[in-house]
Amino acid sequence: MISYPRTAGKLAALLKSGYDAVLDQIRQKQVLVNVKEFLRARTRELANTSALQRPNDQLLDWFNARKASGLADAAIVYHPKGACMLHGFTIEAVPYTRKLDRALYASERARFDSVRPAWLKSVALSHRQELLDAGLSAAVVDRMEKDGKVPPGYEVHHRLPLDDGGTNAFSNLILMRNDIEHIAVHGRYNPGEKLIHATAYGDMVTAVMPLPPQGALIYPDPSRQWVSERVPNIQLYEIYK
Ligand SMILES: [Zn+2]
Repeated sequence: MISYPRTAGKLAALLKSGYDAVLDQIRQKQVLVNVKEFLRARTRELANTSALQRPNDQLLDWFNARKASGLADAAIVYHPKGACMLHGFTIEAVPYTRKLDRALYASERARFDSVRPAWLKSVALSHRQELLDAGLSAAVVDRMEKDGKVPPGYEVHHRLPLDDGGTNAFSNLILMRNDIEHIAVHGRYNPGEKLIHATAYGDMVTAVMPLPPQGALIYPDPSRQWVSERVPNIQLYEIYK
């Protein structure tokens, strides 16, 4: 018989039988879970920053094992529709301090509104072919160059978050397709994201984060095999052991 626990209470009860046992039941398709509900229930069990450090460490181990076996760089990330692999991304341990000065953070956020169009214009001017190769149309790149407009369906992403050591420097910016890649890179059940949200302003943690390919100005870029791919959710659940 297949069970399909959906409520927080039922998922919490299921998890009481032990995480490894639950993952076995999921693998054997005796239990079906929704990725968002399941990870919400699991991360509720990991209620503080020291418990949340463990999935961070395991994600880094996952990446290092992948590298050691000779596979190309990729990051596994959470998206509400399911786990994804971002090919070309690395997973890195980032010493992360949430800015205590929230007024400084807010002013940097506000300043980004003027930095964004300036960066877009400069990229369209200097890297036109790269943008076209990644799949933007000539008309869209023209508008970027002329008005500094964000291409439809894209966002300008800070490689290192503004809330940490990240800045509005051009070298810290990359154009990312919103859905699924940008949503997934900020996925709320990414171990680093969970840890950061549990961290008080001014406190330091080591957050394990997905970082875009070095030197990339746009993601995805199929011409460089930098693409996202859906992967079985169990691969992400294993990070939360
Ligand atoms: Zn972003």
